[in-house]
Amino acid sequence: MERRFPGGKVLRLVIGDITRVPADAIVNAANSALRGGGGVDGAIHRAGGPSIMQELDEIRARQGGCPTGSAVVTGAGNLPARYVFHAVGPIWRRGTHNEPALLASCYRTCLALAEERGLSTISFPSISTGAYGYPVREAASIAIQEVCRHLERPETRLREVTFVLFDQATWEAYAEALRQRAPVE
Ligand code: ADP
Repeated sequence: MERRFPGGKVLRLVIGDITRVPADAIVNAANSALRGGGGVDGAIHRAGGPSIMQELDEIRARQGGCPTGSAVVTGAGNLPARYVFHAVGPIWRRGTHNEPALLASCYRTCLALAEERGLSTISFPSISTGAYGYPVREAASIAIQEVCRHLERPETRLREVTFVLFDQATWEAYAEALRQRAPVE
């Protein structure tokens, strides 16, 4: 499924493994300790090789971890990308701890990091909806809203944003969120 935006920009929803989809930047669903984990984080470190964790070690030595809602940047090792943006999504705690704003902030931070670097393409996983337990429909609607808003801006340099979703049910939730969001004229 895809949505085209004025200026030829495009948002795509695919099912797959994010470590196999080429993009200028691949987003990781990291944790605030930046020490690697399971899910997409584990897959990125396995496929990308040890250089990514070495860079994270240096970042940790400088600044400690990464706050929830923010992201840090490393190279991409053996991945088909130039950068990995390690975004820290919120852990779902019944929606009472500012989770929607923190999740939106992950997407916004990554989009801003891509713009600062003049990147053309970025791919996102479904941040927070695995081990962190964020309900996927709500997370999808936030993710789609932030990316659509970004692509609707005329000054956006990103050309292509892809959500690489790991299973059919997650893809369906993102597809529904995209259908709910009317195209801009
Ligand atoms: P979080 O801790 O932020 O919830 P997870 O990695 O546990 O992060 O899950 C986030 C989403 O990423 C889930 O939908 C999970 O199925 C998915 N996922 C796991 N591995 C991959 C992968 N290789 N590529 C894309 N998505 C993945």
